[in-house]
Amino acid sequence: MYKLIIFGPPGVGKGTQAELLSQKMNLFHFSTGNYLRDLTLRDTELGKKVKNILDRGELVPDDVMNEIISDALRNNIKDKGFILDGYPRTVNQAIALDDILKSLNLQDIIIIYLNVNDEEILKRLLLRGRSDDSEEIIKKRLIIYKETTSKVLDYYKENGKKIIEINGIGEINEINENIISEIMKNIKF
Ligand code: ADP
Repeated sequence: MYKLIIFGPPGVGKGTQAELLSQKMNLFHFSTGNYLRDLTLRDTELGKKVKNILDRGELVPDDVMNEIISDALRNNIKDKGFILDGYPRTVNQAIALDDILKSLNLQDIIIIYLNVNDEEILKRLLLRGRSDDSEEIIKKRLIIYKETTSKVLDYYKENGKKIIEINGIGEINEINENIISEIMKNIKF
């Protein structure tokens, strides 16, 4: 079973690569960004709160995210496995995910760490032009990534998890092939 987490800075292409991987490998793909953007379209208390957070480029509280992921995993386990995209984004989320996966007997995750330089990120996000992609908000998200989210990688390193580092610059399909060949080298069934 493939238990994958795609990790990296905003704008690195996590969503694109996760979608391709999930199609090719028949995995359950869960993008927290897509899920949250969907919530913001609803006229509910939670939808309004989430919209406010996203528009400011800040993070949704850990307890909200942990519950969302726990439900998503419990209800959507496919035989082939899953790929999480956008979570965990804090060390507390990574710790919570360990517990969730343990309770579902789904240990031995592989972390796909997709990386590109800051200038490329800024360029890509400005081109993407989503409502949370103004220059000021992008800069804030990059700071949050460096100060908070990047610590997730240290946490996984300290815990001896398998991390595959992939260069996110290049042609989409080529990057995807690189990811798949690295997964195949590292998978334990
Ligand atoms: P990007 O691909 O640019 O990193 P995403 O689509 O993954 O953006 O996420 C968009 C926004 O959703 C984030 O800036 C953040 O506000 C919120 N978000 C997504 N995942 C999480 C998470 N795991 N914890 C907290 N907030 C999150």
